[in-house]
Order: sequence, then structure tokens, then C-alpha cells
Amino acid sequence: MFKKERPIPPELVKLRILNYRAKLTKKEKLQLSNKEKGYAGELEFDCLIRDLDTLVINELLLEFGETLFQIDTLIIFYGRIYLIDIKYYEGEYCYEDGLFKTIAGSEKKDPMLQLNRCHSELRQLLQKYRYNYPIDAFLVFNNPQFTLFQPSPNPQIILPTQVNSFIKKLYKMPSKLSDVHHKLADLLISLHKTENPYVRLPKYDYDTVEKGITCGSCHSFDVSVSRTKIACKDCGCEELVEVAVLRNVEELRILFPDIRITTNLIFEWCKVIDSTKMIRRILKKNFKAIGNTKNSYYE
Ligand SMILES: [Zn+2]
Repeated sequence: MFKKERPIPPELVKLRILNYRAKLTKKEKLQLSNKEKGYAGELEFDCLIRDLDTLVINELLLEFGETLFQIDTLIIFYGRIYLIDIKYYEGEYCYEDGLFKTIAGSEKKDPMLQLNRCHSELRQLLQKYRYNYPIDAFLVFNNPQFTLFQPSPNPQIILPTQVNSFIKKLYKMPSKLSDVHHKLADLLISLHKTENPYVRLPKYDYDTVEKGITCGSCHSFDVSVSRTKIACKDCGCEELVEVAVLRNVEELRILFPDIRITTNLIFEWCKVIDSTKMIRRILKKNFKAIGNTKNSYYE
């Protein structure tokens, strides 16, 4: 049972929007594509364990002392906890003299080091709350296009050809759970932090991001507006004006969480709708208006 579903990472949501509303550099585009792949790999793994009869918590950001650590998947079994880090790396890599490298020799961040750090932080955090479950940590490489050369097999590393047997093993683990296990899961979820201050995003501001309603399907700005519908000139996709406006208001709020939503702002943001009346009607219907008519804003 998924006690906590995996959200689309907030960083990925922003990068996806910025990809068509801002000019991303090559490096930023690579960041987006790596994030997309990583997220796809996590979802793929989720599918395999969805029917486990135990508690699964996806995507946790926890803090111990001053350190934040992130957990892709945490599974609570009867007598142990599994901490799983999913890596959707592609290509040939090797562990050589304790270094993690591509086959061409360029050194990469060591995922094992990261996993062990996370393992230790989690153990200390649980001890603080007087839970003494043994924790096993695994690094799962689930991209079939991945190979790792290492001097000897490491039981903590699950390679693409080992994923199936690893999953089978998970389904055979003792999963009879009691209240204590549920309380532990609730505790971890309550400690989850939603904002990661260390995430680096491309710099952007309101003046420079591209304004206009985009097509919900292909994100083109080339749309035409009729009385009730927005139609994309590129892919032909149609959407009700209200739905399109709300979707674009949501994008604005994701990029600028503190911005004050007013009729004029949304009029400017949507660009192609030539009636402030229509904007006001949509905002009134879907948000709570605050303040008097002239200076009102919406929440
Ligand atoms: Zn389109």
C-alpha cells in the first residue's frame, strides 16, 4: 500500500514551465532532461512494488540536525525498513578504486556515498524517536541500458538484470504490520519537508518570462480565442477558455508563489484574451475575492 504517493518533483514542474516560458541554457535543458528521466525511472519502480502488502512511503525529504536528506522509496516491513534509492542512469559506468566513473573515465558523484549518508541520517532520526528498526539500504539501477563494472558484486547494488529477483524478494518479506508500523509511517510523513532550499533553478523573473496562454497539449503560444474556446494553431487541440485561463493562472502561481492575483495581472499574463470582464468572471467564480472591487485580489 502506498502510504504516500510520489508527487511530480516541484523542481521538475517549474523546469517544465520554464522550458517554454524562458530561454533555458544548454546546461539547464540537461538538468530538465535528467530530472525527467530520473522521475520516469522512479515511476517505473513504483509500478513494480505497487501491490506490496506493506507500507510504502515515496519521496521523503527529512532533516536530522542541520542536514536534509532525501529518500526515493522507503518500505516498512515487519521487522525492517528498506531504504531504496532509484537511479535511472544510462550507459557504462565503473567503480574503480572507490570512485564512481563513466567508462570514459570522467568521475561522477558517488551514489553509494550518498546512500550511506542517507542511511546514517535516517538511523539517527529514528533513534531520536526511539524506533530501533534495522535499516537496509539499496541502490537500484533500473534502466535496462545501464551497465556497471565493479571488482566484486555489492549486495546493496541492484543492477537492471537483478531488479526482477529483487522485487520477488520484496513480495516475500514478512509484512504483517501493527499499529506501531503505521505510527512510524505517520511520523515520517509528518516530518516530510515540502521545500528543498538547496534545489538550484534557473534564474527567472516576471518581466522576462514569456506571457500568453499556451496550448495545454504542445505548449505552443500560437493559439486563437473564440467566445468559449482556445484553439491551438499548431496541434489543433481545443480547450474551454475558462479551463485554459485557470491552467495558466496555476502556472503563474507555481513560478511566482507570492504574486498577488488580480484581474489586470491575469489579463496581462494571458495576453490573448481581450476582455478583462471575462477574466474577472473566471477569477470570481474560481477564487475567493479579497478587498473592494477596485483593488480586489484573488486567493
Ligand atoms: Zn498545441
